[in-house]
Amino acid sequence: MANQSPAVNPFETAQRQIDIVADLLHLNGGVREVLKVPKRELTVNFPVRMDDGSFRVYTGYRVQYNMARGPTKGGIRYHPQVTLDEVRALAAWMTWKCAVVNIPYGGAKGGVICDPKHMSIGELERLTRRYASEIAPIIGPEVDIPAPDVYTDAQTMAWIMDTFSMQKGYSVPGVVTGKPISIGGSEGRGEATGRGCSYVVREAAKELGLKLKGASVAIQGFGNAGSVASKILADEQGAKIVAVSDSKGGITNPDGLNPHAVDEHKRKTGSVVGFPGSKPITNDEILTMKCDVLIPAALENQLSAKNADKVQAKIVAEAANGPTLPEADTILFQKGITVLPDILANAGGVTVSYFEWAQDLQGFFWTLDEVNQRLERVMVGSYADMRKQAKAHSVHNRTGAYLLAIQRVVDAIRIRGIYP
Ligand code: NAD
Repeated sequence: MANQSPAVNPFETAQRQIDIVADLLHLNGGVREVLKVPKRELTVNFPVRMDDGSFRVYTGYRVQYNMARGPTKGGIRYHPQVTLDEVRALAAWMTWKCAVVNIPYGGAKGGVICDPKHMSIGELERLTRRYASEIAPIIGPEVDIPAPDVYTDAQTMAWIMDTFSMQKGYSVPGVVTGKPISIGGSEGRGEATGRGCSYVVREAAKELGLKLKGASVAIQGFGNAGSVASKILADEQGAKIVAVSDSKGGITNPDGLNPHAVDEHKRKTGSVVGFPGSKPITNDEILTMKCDVLIPAALENQLSAKNADKVQAKIVAEAANGPTLPEADTILFQKGITVLPDILANAGGVTVSYFEWAQDLQGFFWTLDEVNQRLERVMVGSYADMRKQAKAHSVHNRTGAYLLAIQRVVDAIRIRGIYP
């Protein structure tokens, strides 16, 4: 991941995770090898004209990890530290995430090595359109469907959709998801990750006999995923949001914070810090404070062997990707804390991306209620499927989710057979 230490190769981590589950599933050599390597990788080097008239050559990647279950799906990230191994790992994780929620996709990921914070809108548009042209031979609604990721957004997707459509000579909205609604985006996509996370928190609380009404919730990272989860848990479940944070720091109030008012304050001042009636709290303190539900929704590698034994929450719901290190998983499991792993807890986003693609292919669009009801059905069903696996193998939820996902991919590989 982008800000992981260079000593940790994310693809090696991803491969180790596969081995652990492959052992539990007694997978033989051939299938195991297929699972551990990307099916297709494309590296592109391409020139982009800069505002001053010069041009620069950029490098981009698109990795399609496994397509046994359907077209591949995954975001595109713009970042100076993008590496091929990072893109491979993210593509593998997308494969498992799509399989956990049982949507008919394989996994993919793309990235361009660039520094978007120091590029103009015009430069970003030209970079996006050229990168889209370079990867056009291997993307498309039936092949591989990109989406936004770090430093790419709905505008980026609109440029990719337009570039691809211009080459075809007709509009192809299904080539990307996370588009603006005006060109085939879906209702509910913007809040899908936080909403999906709130549904699995509700299911876990039910199983634990924890009443969410009045339960205390702490959220690290009051961004898209975290702020939406906090509003839905407060508005729809009656939970009390006792702490939230962003990159500038955190705030706490044991009597509860109104997440809508905090959002307003953040919009006006640029941070949650200084919200009237709250006390400051650090991002580290949030992780170990007394609360019923902890939602890491910011960065990876937040819970480690150093702080996991101090976590007091009953449920840890990973809205962020990769917030818990493997050694922390074991500690949390031994403490009896329920972890809702990222590949389930934040899969609401890709689930509604799938809905967006399905709507684009039909040219028939759903209401917000229809989107949310279908999302709820997927998240509730996937939570139950994961728990079944975890209980059957006496393992923690993350391994349960991986067992479920990898078994589904293996079933697809086996039933299709090896070509030719
Ligand atoms: P975002 O940029 O909207 O929000 C991130 C938040 O984290 C911001 O409030 C930021 O200030 C805060 N933050 C940054 N550094 C921090 C630090 N050091 N300590 C505490 N807070 C810090 O991003 P997002 O879309 O909400 O994504 C958050 C996480 O959720 C990421 O791990 C992302 O990969 C994951 N995720 C998001 C989606 C989605 O659809 N948005 C889908 C799947 C996974």
